[in-house]
Amino acid sequence: MQFSFDTTPELAQQLDEQDILASFKHSFVFPHQNDKPVIYFCGNSLGLQPKNFETAIQTESQSWRELAVSGYFSGKNPWLYYQDYISPSLAKIVGAAPEEVTVMNTLTVNLHLLMLSFYRPTQQRYKIIMEAGAFPSDQYAVETLVKHFGFDPAQSIIEITPLNNEKILSTENIINIIAENSEALALVMLGGMNYYTGQFFDLQSITDAAHKAGAVAGFDLAHVAGNIPIRLHDWNVDFAAWCSYKYLNAGPGAVGGVFIHEKHCSNTSFPRLGGWWGNDEKIRFKMEKGFNPKPTAAGWNMSTAQVFNMVGLKASLEIFDAAGMYNIRQKSIQLTAYLEYLLQQLHNIAFEIITPKDINARGAQLSLFFSEKGREIHDKMLDNNIIVDYREPGVIRVAPAPLYCSYTDVYTFYRILKDEFND
Ligand SMILES: *Cc1c(COP(=O)(O)O)cnc(C)c1O
Repeated sequence: MQFSFDTTPELAQQLDEQDILASFKHSFVFPHQNDKPVIYFCGNSLGLQPKNFETAIQTESQSWRELAVSGYFSGKNPWLYYQDYISPSLAKIVGAAPEEVTVMNTLTVNLHLLMLSFYRPTQQRYKIIMEAGAFPSDQYAVETLVKHFGFDPAQSIIEITPLNNEKILSTENIINIIAENSEALALVMLGGMNYYTGQFFDLQSITDAAHKAGAVAGFDLAHVAGNIPIRLHDWNVDFAAWCSYKYLNAGPGAVGGVFIHEKHCSNTSFPRLGGWWGNDEKIRFKMEKGFNPKPTAAGWNMSTAQVFNMVGLKASLEIFDAAGMYNIRQKSIQLTAYLEYLLQQLHNIAFEIITPKDINARGAQLSLFFSEKGREIHDKMLDNNIIVDYREPGVIRVAPAPLYCSYTDVYTFYRILKDEFND
């Protein structure tokens, strides 16, 4: 895709006028600072609150207040089926059938539960491949999982590191390492997008390679869900899990999402840890002996639907349905390319964009490594009402989420860098 950008403020304005998603900004609540709404580039950490959240919460509060236990079967959204209101929209976002998707618990918990289903190590086949520098929670999950099975993490976990001082991983290298380990490999478990570099991996090729090696492919999609459209079913991914509070804007600690491929979830004998909410609804309340899971991803549900933890996701997905994941991605590609273009015009600032240049290998986020003044730049942005994320040693992650960030927002960020630091 070719764009022609320039550094004039008029261009930013013009791009905003042409933006078919521009009005979605008004579907969100912006925190205020110095009596002004902030420019928010932290949707990769915690998305903004959708305006329809407040009413959605009140609806369930009213059902509880007025219906009490009958709220499970009556009211606007009978709670018994609450997960079913969410799966169809969520399935569209990750490219799955509604039956392959469910919501439950939170991300790290779900990673554990899914790995317990899919990682069935033997003395011959017990190794797990993940990316070096994975999100800490994922590292701890995999480390404690292999220990749980009595294996030594140092012998069992293979971490893929970038070649020759590069910051990003090459797909070829990932695939080679998978092939080299095919004899003992049980599971490939990568973050679909690295939270730090913003690199989006080629999930389809990695899945194919894992299968060829006789292993299972699972992904943590925390930074992918709602950011990049994917096709988990067609790509034959075995399982995936993600959180809903980043690009999906469902609120802090909101319910996590889970994908289990139809070829696995339709098999009610597939190993899992079960609970009554995963049991066939028709016989759930008979309270009989013997677990009869639903033949869908929901067969992994355990506990009563956490309604108040799901309200935010249900509300937020109405916005995704209205905007459409395709449009969101089209805007995102252009918005992030615009940010990249503007940054490339700043020749007197010592920094490097560590996120891949290839638009197919990244989403909304650009990670900028400042060899000096990183902290100072972050603080200056904050003084100017711009919220970005800072990580030692000098990385600022800028994530213009297309649903509520504009071209003018990106331009404003650039102008502060140019006016304050580019001399
Ligand atoms: C955000 C994030 C998490 C957080 O997990 P929780 O269980 O929701 O706290 C885990 N893994 C990755 C890759 C993340 O980006």
